[in-house]
Amino acid sequence: MSQQKRGIINNSAVDPNKILPMKYLWARQHYKDGVANNWAPEEVSMQKDVEQWKSLTALNETERRMIIYNLGFFSTAESLTANNLVLAVYKHVTNPECRQYLLRQAFEEAIHTDTFIYCCDTLGLNPDDIYNMYETIPSIKDKDDFVVNLTKSLFDPNFTTEGTANVQRFLRDLIGFYVIMEGIFFYAGFAMMLALKRQNKMVGIGEQFEYIMRDESLHLAFGCDLINTIKAENPEVWTTEFQEEIMDLIKQAVVLEKQYAFDACPQGLLGINAQQFSEYVEHITDRRLERIDLPKIYGTQNPFPWMSQSTDLSKEKNFFETRVTEYQSGGALEWE
Ligand code: MN
Ligand code: FE
Repeated sequence: MSQQKRGIINNSAVDPNKILPMKYLWARQHYKDGVANNWAPEEVSMQKDVEQWKSLTALNETERRMIIYNLGFFSTAESLTANNLVLAVYKHVTNPECRQYLLRQAFEEAIHTDTFIYCCDTLGLNPDDIYNMYETIPSIKDKDDFVVNLTKSLFDPNFTTEGTANVQRFLRDLIGFYVIMEGIFFYAGFAMMLALKRQNKMVGIGEQFEYIMRDESLHLAFGCDLINTIKAENPEVWTTEFQEEIMDLIKQAVVLEKQYAFDACPQGLLGINAQQFSEYVEHITDRRLERIDLPKIYGTQNPFPWMSQSTDLSKEKNFFETRVTEYQSGGALEWE
């Protein structure tokens, strides 16, 4: 029987235990980049954050609301992502080098989940409040429900990726999970927390968000390579009608992310008005569309050029920190 790896999905002739020789070298590269980016939340000191959080004057109500909203969204979103990855995506992507990457990504999602445990613990937040926000805050619930609905078919035990309609279902789910959840729904929050850090507020959490964002940009890169490979190997699924359906979903997601941005930060932050967060969402959405060969929709300028500048992240910059936790650099990463 031939052991050739013929395609990234629907390849029953492939032995999932034989990783060599490799066919999809990009998957291997993303794995290595992920390993090079290794970090853990406890390496980041929360001492200044705790002082500011307990102080009556260091943070205003707008800033506190924004921080709580982002902890509320991300604390459960990371687990939702991990569950989707391990319980649904892994089953249908049988190629061994892709699975090696998926295992690495799953580990990184565990690190992210741990980050929010660490934040809740150090700031002394009530976990019942934070971890219920995805059910009690409509602008958070709407985002999670949107992704859960899009990724439902992956959880159907009878679902297979055989046939055009099923490959489309799988692609729709992958786009919902990688492009929309990790590529759009995370980014208003990233911009808010990094904007706060630039004002020297909650710099510990801000730094953890930088590391999470660096990981997420790799998850997104892998996801887009996976999506584009499935499209290339199954060109009959990428019809005009299907592309329009995907564009429509992405437009709906942008509406939800803007709602979230206005709800989390209605007054804006010092020097940033609430509208700019939604312009940023439009800007990064255009980048996501280009990545999967769809036309951009908004043509919006990036209101936060520092988001791509502040992202060339290396632990060397923390020379003033007491703990030296230098890992190999992750190399050039596409941050937006
Ligand atoms: Mn994550
Ligand atoms: Fe992720």
